[in-house]
Amino acid sequence: MTGNKIFITNGEHNLAENIIHPVLARIEGDPPGTTGISIFLVPKFLVNPDSTLGARNDIVCTGVEEKHGIHGSATCSMTLGAKGECLGYLLGEERKGMKIMFYMMNDARLNTGLQGLAYASAAYLEALNYSRERIQGRDLADFADRGAKSVPIIKHPDVRRNLLRMKAYVSGMRSFFYYAALCGEELGLGNKGEALNEAFFSLLTPIVKEYMAVMGYEVCNQAIQVFGGAGYTRDYPVEQYARDCRITPIYEGTSGIQAMDFLARKIGAEKGAAFAKLISEISQTTARAKEIKTLAPLAEKLDTAVSRLTDITQIIGKKALSPEFKTAFAHSLPFLHVTGDVIMAWMLLWRGVVSSEKLAKGCHPKDQSFYNGQIRTAEFFIQTELYATLGKMDAVAQGCPAAIEMEDDAFGGL
Ligand SMILES: Cc1cc2nc3c(=O)[nH]c(=O)nc-3n(C[C@H](O)[C@H](O)[C@H](O)COP(=O)(O)OP(=O)(O)OC[C@H]3O[C@@H](n4cnc5c(N)ncnc54)[C@H](O)[C@@H]3O)c2cc1C
Repeated sequence: MTGNKIFITNGEHNLAENIIHPVLARIEGDPPGTTGISIFLVPKFLVNPDSTLGARNDIVCTGVEEKHGIHGSATCSMTLGAKGECLGYLLGEERKGMKIMFYMMNDARLNTGLQGLAYASAAYLEALNYSRERIQGRDLADFADRGAKSVPIIKHPDVRRNLLRMKAYVSGMRSFFYYAALCGEELGLGNKGEALNEAFFSLLTPIVKEYMAVMGYEVCNQAIQVFGGAGYTRDYPVEQYARDCRITPIYEGTSGIQAMDFLARKIGAEKGAAFAKLISEISQTTARAKEIKTLAPLAEKLDTAVSRLTDITQIIGKKALSPEFKTAFAHSLPFLHVTGDVIMAWMLLWRGVVSSEKLAKGCHPKDQSFYNGQIRTAEFFIQTELYATLGKMDAVAQGCPAAIEMEDDAFGGL
């Protein structure tokens, strides 16, 4: 094997006795492009037939990146075969490297979405605790009373809105991840081979990866805001969560790559049946919600958003196959994001339905505020965030071509 690769996570460390690198490479003479790529296993130490460690292989770390965050993870530049002695072992068949790599990559994409959720969840809980402890400013109701005591910042309307917005995304993403993971588990448990279920799971993958990465970062960013100046210091962990989370929309395929995959491959999969399954799954929840008086108006609003999502999917899908395909791809990321927003509304409404049913049955008093919180969170998301989503959907439908039609030189000159 010969070559260099930068940005290798944990490319070198001494936490394990050996490191095995899966490496994409082309066998001499194989065709150019991705169809000619194979995958090899390249160990740091060669392994003897009796499983003991043998000689050091000719793969070395030539540098470690200085990064914005994730300082606990060594991101290495690796050089293979500098001495012409790097051994790699073919994994699977020749020229099937991309397919094999994507098996791992799809899993990694789900886990990257999960990272976004994990940072967001931790950042939210930190911000919530801080907002209960930090005393600053009078209650708005006491604005005229100069003698009134200062209150914890959780009493201030803007802080409450910020916290509830964070809670909405964290809760929605948590449920969405479990849902997607369950779809993946079911594939592994026997439904494998059912083309529609596979296509459905694959449709969810770029949304989990991209949406949860970007919204995870957004929640971390909002957590800094709740902390005020303290959030910008290293005295509290939220600035680290934000820096650490910033990588998630970049590695394992950037936002732009996820959006291209979503528009070009996923929404049309199985002749659109995978996307139709998503819409039908959502409508099962809205149907249940319509049976509950307090949730019925939320279900109606979600129905409106779902129907608009179906419209814009057709509009952008058609455009992607027309001579204006570049304009369609310029809107592919907002399109993925509005789909994610609709999924958030769905998940939160689903939580609301379950909570309403629990409350109606008479739950333990200590659980009441938890269930009420779920209903309020759904109400908040659907009655505030989803309005912005509808506006963004209009923009996707409009499909403004400016980004594509503007001459390259015109990007300069501010
Ligand atoms: C901390 C860290 C750890 C990493 N770990 C690993 C690892 O362990 N193994 C590994 O193999 N890689 C790893 N990477 C590499 C990572 O996957 C890439 O950085 C990432 O996929 C983006 O590729 P790039 O850096 O070459 O950016 P580029 O491809 O140069 O992208 C730059 C911009 O152009 C856009 N763009 C590029 N091509 C297209 C296109 N065709 N269409 C539309 N938009 C496009 C991108 O979306 C992006 O916005 C790591 C990177 C980092 C920063």
